[in-house]
Amino acid sequence: MCYAIPGKVELRDKYVVVDYFGQKKRARSDFHEVSVGDYVYAQGGFIINKVPPAEAEAALETWKEMFDELQKIDLRLAEKKDNLYQIANNLRSRYSGNSSCVHGILEFSNYCDNSCLYCGLRKENPALERYRMSVEEIVEAACSAAKNFGFKAMVLQSGEDRYYDAEKLVSAVKGIMAQTPSLLIMSIGERSVETYRKLYAAGARGVLMRFETSNRALYEKFRPGCRLEDRLRLIQELKKMGYIIISGFLIGLPGQSEKDIIKDIELTNSLGVEMFSFGPLIPHESTPLNSEPVPPLEKILNTIAQTRILYPESRILVTTATETLEKNSAAQRALLSGANSLMINITPEKYQSLYYLYPGRAGSEKPLAERIDSVIKLLKSLGRAPSDLGLA
Ligand code: SAH
Ligand code: SF4
Repeated sequence: MCYAIPGKVELRDKYVVVDYFGQKKRARSDFHEVSVGDYVYAQGGFIINKVPPAEAEAALETWKEMFDELQKIDLRLAEKKDNLYQIANNLRSRYSGNSSCVHGILEFSNYCDNSCLYCGLRKENPALERYRMSVEEIVEAACSAAKNFGFKAMVLQSGEDRYYDAEKLVSAVKGIMAQTPSLLIMSIGERSVETYRKLYAAGARGVLMRFETSNRALYEKFRPGCRLEDRLRLIQELKKMGYIIISGFLIGLPGQSEKDIIKDIELTNSLGVEMFSFGPLIPHESTPLNSEPVPPLEKILNTIAQTRILYPESRILVTTATETLEKNSAAQRALLSGANSLMINITPEKYQSLYYLYPGRAGSEKPLAERIDSVIKLLKSLGRAPSDLGLA
């Protein structure tokens, strides 16, 4: 199974230009020496793999026909502009095309030193059975997702768990990169700049860190002991270091206004993100927010559509929390309201239910192979190419 289309290297300068059926994308070649005519896989704007010509040509043969077919379906579905969602979907098709990133997410520890009032992993939740994956388990799980299922971009996520010092995290990243070079995206919370520098040197190239809310008062209330400025400064520092950034916010914090959400969208964009990641706050029974209402799916779809209309070229993730609101249809509705990326949980099955951020989490019901199959079917039915074509 393949989530990326091989591209042909056209031009070498500071950036490499990669050609995909006539569409040109820029990518950086931090990990490989490449020459004109080479075939490569690029993820999030980085060349992560060279592909032998015979393999690439066979893959392209299969893709070419499908690519044209998918494009036709997408253009047809994106034609109408009768409501907000359709307008957003039309803009997505016109400005961002039909490619949809599919990333894996590996949740390697549910220990957390923090006390975010909304989160089931907060340290004051004694009801939760905790787990930590060893470095070897992390490498094994990520490499197996890459080798057996073709994942080329993976998020390594955990609570803010200082058991994993820089050395352990670096070993995990190096171990994965040595076997299956991938776009590795760290989602480990606020760690020192030095730790992130070491991770970059080891080969990690992405960071997923939401700022959660742009409203300082809400931030301090719901993330006790933390400061919005610190989180934003860290995100900016990591962007400067060369990481691609995925960030965003929670929708449904008590006291959050419509205006706050517009500010959240603007702040995400101003951070220069590669991808927007926002979704509903789903109240967890063992947290102080246990009696809050679940936000309606329409509120999330509206935010997706607003983001797309404000920033037509952006990548917008359908988050797992969004999928959880309506397990059979939320992903499809979100993709038709302006979103264009998905995540698949690649955490070993025995740990998945313990990574209990919020109840009823979608995406753990079936074995991985079946879940991948459903995602690919969904994307194809909407005329989306499950791929990552690199930087625009
Ligand atoms: N500890 C890291 C990463 C793990 S938490 C960090 O906080 O950055 C990942 C995300 O889960 C958080 O950014 C938060 O937005 C989301 N989250 C936590 N509790 C949630 C809930 N009850 N409903 C929906 N999303 C939640
Ligand atoms: Fe920890 Fe992240 Fe949950 Fe906050 S949101 S308690 S930092 S896992």
